[in-house]
Amino acid sequence: MRIWMDGKLVEQQDAKVSVFDHGLLYGDGVFEGIRVYGGTIFQCQAHVDRLFDSARRIRLAIPLTKQEIVEAMHQALRANGLSEAYIRLVVTRGEGNLGLSPFLSPSPCIFIIPGQIQLYPPEMYEKGMAVIIAKTVRTAATMLDPSVKSLNYLNNIMAKIEAIDAGVPEAIMLNVQGHVAECTGDNIFTIKDGTAFTPPPPAGILIGITRGVVIKLAGRLGIPLAEKDLTPGDLYQADECFLTGTAAEVIAVTKIDDKVIGTGKPGPITNKLMAAFREFIRDSDQ
Ligand code: PMP
Repeated sequence: MRIWMDGKLVEQQDAKVSVFDHGLLYGDGVFEGIRVYGGTIFQCQAHVDRLFDSARRIRLAIPLTKQEIVEAMHQALRANGLSEAYIRLVVTRGEGNLGLSPFLSPSPCIFIIPGQIQLYPPEMYEKGMAVIIAKTVRTAATMLDPSVKSLNYLNNIMAKIEAIDAGVPEAIMLNVQGHVAECTGDNIFTIKDGTAFTPPPPAGILIGITRGVVIKLAGRLGIPLAEKDLTPGDLYQADECFLTGTAAEVIAVTKIDDKVIGTGKPGPITNKLMAAFREFIRDSDQ
């Protein structure tokens, strides 16, 4: 695989970052995970906008324009002959000293991995999956705002470890108020009495691009939808539940902790939105 790194295409074994890079030393940097379907970078503008927004909020100046980043992603895809891919686009703070100050790192490091991802086993997309509610609480916006997609994912990783220890692939994280925030790498939706619900941005979430697409599709399909704070009780009593994310796409949740959700199978509204999402990808040219 050839990696785009700081303006050059290099072989995977030559794509290396310094041990003094603050992305490695402190998780100081930002990233995006982006799907490519049929040669089109899905929701390209939204991802690049979010990358620049995340960077601005940690006072990291990306030394390329948005257009140059898009061109670099195309170069990485072409270099590997890929039309279906999962791109990891990363901007680290760059090399610094052993102190914390980000302002002693003059050159951010930018790299683009044109890879693949399979987050959950294929059969779970048909049958739905079991998840737990993690004890690890999602960082509050006053700590490290989850709407910044930073390289510091240990909060999510601790919840992911809880999930794996419990024998399930994913964990739902609550915020400090005890309301539902999101999963370790996905946003969450429930369906109750025909209406879809999803936690609002102030609940402390990454404002997912897939979440945005699904909200738009629900509107087109005439499915009522509201952003609303949800409790664990709301989850257990939901008729349906599903997760959204670039890597996950749309996947049904059929069990939370020891509670079966709805009929224990992906529900009709979830199935409708999953089908609409697939169609949207197929017809999408952006
Ligand atoms: N929440 C978290 C914590 C994430 O890391 C992600 C992305 N993997 C999402 C939600 C989903 O966001 P998107 O749809 O933009 O991929």
